[in-house]
Amino acid sequence: MSTNVYAERQPRSVLVVLSGGQDSATCLYWAKKQFAGPLHAITFDYGQRHRVELECATNLARDAGAIHSIVPVNSLSALSSNALTHEGVSTAGNTGMNGLPSTFVPGRNALFLTLAAAYAVPKGIQDLVIGACQMDAAGYPDCRDGFIKSMQHALSMAMESPVHIHTPLMYLTKDQTFRLAEKLGVLEKVVTGTHTCYEGNHTDLHSWGYGCGQCPACDLRRKGFEDFSARKSLS
Ligand SMILES: [Zn+2]
Repeated sequence: MSTNVYAERQPRSVLVVLSGGQDSATCLYWAKKQFAGPLHAITFDYGQRHRVELECATNLARDAGAIHSIVPVNSLSALSSNALTHEGVSTAGNTGMNGLPSTFVPGRNALFLTLAAAYAVPKGIQDLVIGACQMDAAGYPDCRDGFIKSMQHALSMAMESPVHIHTPLMYLTKDQTFRLAEKLGVLEKVVTGTHTCYEGNHTDLHSWGYGCGQCPACDLRRKGFEDFSARKSLS
């Protein structure tokens, strides 16, 4: 499998940035397996329209035995208008800042990682895990490896303490992320216990999980699951 996989379980504590979506849920169980110390999870309530994400995060953290904090971050939705925080902004197309998708939330991962480090470092936690992935079609600049490495450096300097940011999904496609969940023995939990649909549909359950089946997030997830299933039937 990809980056940051230790041959042996690390004795340290770890903090996972947990949104309640497929990627961060997979990271949560990855971290539980990789680190033997207390497992912490932090979820940011940034005014996302779909509150079901927060419920999923709470349930996942409980299931994984994580110490879970939900931290309010009220300023993001006040500062910019995007499809994840504002009703009526279409989730399709590159209508966001600088031609980025309308679902791009400017500054989100920089802010989240800063707050995660501010939570972790005083507790003696040096390891942060975030489900950033630069393979996603969305192409968010704050999900790319260069940005994450820069934040790792900046936060280590800011806190005068080493901060390691782990991104186990960075180079994985969605079907490989499903495969990782399966390898971790949590495929069912990830499929049924997470929310990624941009339209907030958490009533229609498909083989790949809940969602409207139409929005870009559902599309990516469905295709990923189909590729994962096709590969499985071949092996
Ligand atoms: Zn959807």
